[in-house]
This record gives sequence, structure tokens and C-alpha cells, in this order.
Amino acid sequence: MEKKFHLAILPGDGIGPEVMHEAYKILSILKKKCFINFIFHEYDIGGVAIDKHGTALPIHTLIGCEKSDAILLGSVGGPKWNNLPDEKQPERGALLPLRKHFNLFANIRPSILYTELRDLSPLRQDIINTNINILCVRELISGIYFGKSQKKHSVEFGDYAFDTELYYQSEIYRIADMAFKIAQQRNNKLTSIDKANVLKSSKLWRETVNNVAKNYPKVQLSHLYIDNAVMQIIKNPSHFDVILCSNLFGDIVSDECAAITGSIGMLASASLNEKNFGMYEPAGGSAPDIQGKNIANPIAQILSIALLLRYSMKLYELSDAIFETIKQVLKKGYRTFDLSNNKKDYVNTNQMGDIISQTLLKEI
Ligand code: NAD
Repeated sequence: MEKKFHLAILPGDGIGPEVMHEAYKILSILKKKCFINFIFHEYDIGGVAIDKHGTALPIHTLIGCEKSDAILLGSVGGPKWNNLPDEKQPERGALLPLRKHFNLFANIRPSILYTELRDLSPLRQDIINTNINILCVRELISGIYFGKSQKKHSVEFGDYAFDTELYYQSEIYRIADMAFKIAQQRNNKLTSIDKANVLKSSKLWRETVNNVAKNYPKVQLSHLYIDNAVMQIIKNPSHFDVILCSNLFGDIVSDECAAITGSIGMLASASLNEKNFGMYEPAGGSAPDIQGKNIANPIAQILSIALLLRYSMKLYELSDAIFETIKQVLKKGYRTFDLSNNKKDYVNTNQMGDIISQTLLKEI
């Protein structure tokens, strides 16, 4: 019998449970048709966990995740919990601690512009008439979001505040190594982004990336300063393949890539540690503006299963089959509300889940 794969499922808030409902359809197809021995364990997280258990990350959720082989997350947050102190809010109180607890240092986010969705891109047709498939590798648990920061007051100057960008060489080394490995599995092309002309942390970043490059002679490495990089990505996105960034720059660049490819409802991400334990989730948030309307796009949540198959389970063909299924569904003209041009001809969340399921059954 196939080895059991325990999956912690955290639907969360807003549209999280709605799109997770569609993800379950795909998981059950993989279980029945491909004989993957998934064991599902569902836990509360985020706002819903605050309401039920008084904390965004209850201890039983954390222990459940620890006992699992991977985590499939929906999204957390919403206006109901915005007035809580920062550290108690769904994102600060659950997501950041989860990433830190499992040492999920690498965030991987593919942005693909599907031919059928080119009219959703804000860029000119001549720019997007080429293949755009960028994979952003972002350092996730260090840098300026985790360095010393403070807001203070002095009698002389009034309020002042600071944040610190601190990177240890080992932290840069491990994320660079992961990016080179991923580049090798794709087109042997890697662009590292920094601000080495100004920042000391970026100088160390560049030196370290150059050192790691010696182990990967086939990968063509280039460096860009962040200010130039954001311009080049907009002007010529098809030039890029794998992009490597620090936490701060990756936050910005991955959203830029997302915007180029159309709707946030299409984008999934994987956060991994050195043992390939991963947390897989849509790139967007809990979308409270469309919660309960059955119009959320479930594709990002479903593609996060494709990333789970690729990065945690090494089932590359099945992972590709899910990406291909999405392509087929779009080619046939099915659109959710966010992808619909006239906002009249669209399929709802449940219908899209069913269409993807039926197409996947033919694909695998
Ligand atoms: P958001 O991503 O939730 O929504 C931005 C816009 O994108 C909205 O118009 C929304 O309707 C749309 N959108 C997002 N996902 C969609 C989907 N699957 N289908 C169709 N449309 C979709 O960002 P926001 O409004 O800034 O944040 C809302 C809440 O989500 C906040 O509480 C925020 O803190 C939280 N958030 C959580 C995560 C996470 O859980 N990883 C990430 C980002 C934001």
C-alpha cells in the first residue's frame, strides 16, 4: 500500500473555506484515481480560530501541522479582526509564526500569463504577445521584516522609527541554493535582485549568490538592482525566468509579476523549508468583499495543490497535469467572475471546481 500522506488543511477566513471546498474535489480525485493515500486533517486558523479559541494559531492547530507532511492553507483575515492588537490579528498572529515555526525560508510563486487571459494583463499587447512564465523565489523569514524595529519619541525630534535589514550569509546561501536548483529544473536562467550599490546587506547578498553560482555552472546568472529590475520586468517580462529576491524586494516583485498576469485569483504559492516541508496557499487574501457570493476564483487554491505535488511529493507529472487542466479549462472559455470581461458570462466558484474536476479526470 502507498505510504500515507498526512495533509493539514486550514481553510481560514473569508473566501478561504469556499475555495478550499473546490480544492477538496481535486484532492479526492487524486486520492481515488491516482491512489495517493492522502489523510486529511482540518484545523481552525486566523479569525475563525480567534472567535472559537481566542487565538489565531491555536496550539492544537500547530501540533496538527507538526504531525502532518504538508499544510494546505486558504487565507486569513478580515475587517472583523482589524481592531485587535497587531500581534493578535490573523496574519501577524498566525501566518508569520507558522512560517517561522516551520522555518519556511523559501517562498516560491509562479506567475504565468495564460494565452487565453492576455486581455486581462494591464500591459500593451506587443509586450505580452510572448510567453510569460516567471517564478519568483523570495526569502521569507529574515531580512527587514524580522530585523530589529522600533517606533520611539524624542523631545528634540518628535516621533521616529527604524527597521533593520539583517541577513546572515547562511540565510542567503540556502535561498540562493534553492533558486539555482529550481532554475536547473526550468531553463537554467536566474536573475538575482538586490541594491548592492547602496546597501551592505545587498553587497553580501550578491557576493554569496556569486559563490553559490560556482556550484551551478550551467545556470546563467545575472544581477539587477531593484529599481532597474521593476522597470525591466514591466518592459520585457518574457525575458525573465527565475527571479531570486530578499524578503522585502520579493514581496514587491512577486506582486508586480502577479499584476502582469491578470487576476490574483490565479496565483498560488509554496513556502518551503530545507526538508521540503511546505505550506501551500493562494497568493491572495481572504477577499472579504466577495465572501459568501460564490464568485471567488478557486484556481489559485487548486494550483496550490499542484505545487504541493511538485515540491513536497515530487509527483511532477501529476503537478503538470493540474496546470495543463487549468489551461484546457480556460481554452474552452470558462471564466470566473474576476476573469470575465463583461461580468455577465461567468461560472461560479462551485461550477468552476466541477469543470476543473471533470477536465482533470480526462487529463490523468
Ligand atoms: P485580497 O487579496 O484578499 O483581495 C484583493 C482583491 O482581490 C479583492 O478585490 C478580492 O476580491 C480579489 N481577490 C482575491 N482573491 C480572489 C479570488 N480567489 N477570486 C477572485 N477575486 C479575488 O487582499 P486585501 O483585500 O488587501 O485583504 C483582505 C484580507 O486578507 C485582509 O484581512 C488581509 O490581511 C488578508 N490577507 C491574507 C493573506 C493570507 O492569508 N495569506 C494574504 C493577503 C491578505
